[in-house]
Amino acid sequence: MAKEISSSDKAFISSLLPRLKALRHHLHQYPELSGQEYGTAAYLTSFIQPYKPTEILKNLGSGTGIVAYWDSGKPGPFILFRAEIDALPIDEEGNFDYCSNNPGISHKCGHDGHTAMVAGLAPLIQRNPPVAGKAGLLFQPAEETGEGAFAIVKDERFRRLKPDYIFGLHNLPGYPLGQIVLRSGTFCAASGGMRIILVGRTSHAAEPEKAISPMACMINLLQSLPAITNQIQTKQATQLTVTHARLGEASFGITPGTAILHVTLRAYDKNDFDALIKKVESLANEEAQKSGLKIHFEFKEAFPLTANSENMTSLIQTASEKRGFNFIKKKEPFRWSEDFGHYAEIAQTGFFGLGAGEEVPNLHHPQYDFPDALLGYGIRIFKSLMEILGKSK
Ligand SMILES: [Zn+2]
Ligand SMILES: [Zn+2]
Repeated sequence: MAKEISSSDKAFISSLLPRLKALRHHLHQYPELSGQEYGTAAYLTSFIQPYKPTEILKNLGSGTGIVAYWDSGKPGPFILFRAEIDALPIDEEGNFDYCSNNPGISHKCGHDGHTAMVAGLAPLIQRNPPVAGKAGLLFQPAEETGEGAFAIVKDERFRRLKPDYIFGLHNLPGYPLGQIVLRSGTFCAASGGMRIILVGRTSHAAEPEKAISPMACMINLLQSLPAITNQIQTKQATQLTVTHARLGEASFGITPGTAILHVTLRAYDKNDFDALIKKVESLANEEAQKSGLKIHFEFKEAFPLTANSENMTSLIQTASEKRGFNFIKKKEPFRWSEDFGHYAEIAQTGFFGLGAGEEVPNLHHPQYDFPDALLGYGIRIFKSLMEILGKSK
């Protein structure tokens, strides 16, 4: 749907990079937590406006989502490129001139870099607009809590846009800089947090026999839950991590009457994920019953699977080849999760990794900083995807 790339495109993209680097540094300096990205959204809106999109939709999803698109006015596919705009509750460790100004908050997942790459498509699309269909940018809040994409997909104003294709990427420390990481099928795991609440009855600490203490049940669950993944038949590997446990209150005078356990579940297959939840519930119910406790479950931070069809994978591969970028096909899915999977409900989706260098700190590490050298890679791949989809129309 976009015109064929002109020979000066390469030079034009290179000329954009200082502006995008400055944009990323600004975002890095003023990071905002999931769902609170008001300053970020306002800054992005003013960055995009001069490139005259046909329409900018603001306040999407959980309140700070933005879509800006350019409409050719002719029928054709609608292609969106998505970036997450939220930062993390991590105190930045570093000593560079664009360090976080917001204590306790920083861009430690590289979403500032993803955002700068997607924003960089604005001048490119304005210069080389679609000849059919529409092309646009999607800035999504609250990825880290798993709520952002879900809220965007449920937003009627977004659904009315009826996008045909949505693409996203994640930077990957530990992989060579600029290497494209592809996978057909599951790209990264489904995951979810499960809160198990055990309720008995307190008593005076001098009379523990008068309490219904959840202690024994809690100890049994702490021991048996991590082994649960070996006890169920699943198609692929699953994982359970106990992330938090609390027994009673921090006192000396009360025999505990409640206990709370947090477990995080992961799977590479939807049915496996459901089976894992069922197994945790049945084991916890059984243990609670033995101790005469009431039990309830709450679910938090649910991330669906992020997966690629064969078609989308080969499309991204072609885009990588077209740019002469090095790529690998990963054998196993990633264990971490992405909320990008929600978009598969309304569009064809493609997701890939972009190596951030082998000798850099991990994602969510207090010293992580998205490498500026990656900005050009992401933009070029996105641009190639627009060109290929345009030609195949
Ligand atoms: Zn993250
Ligand atoms: Zn991330």
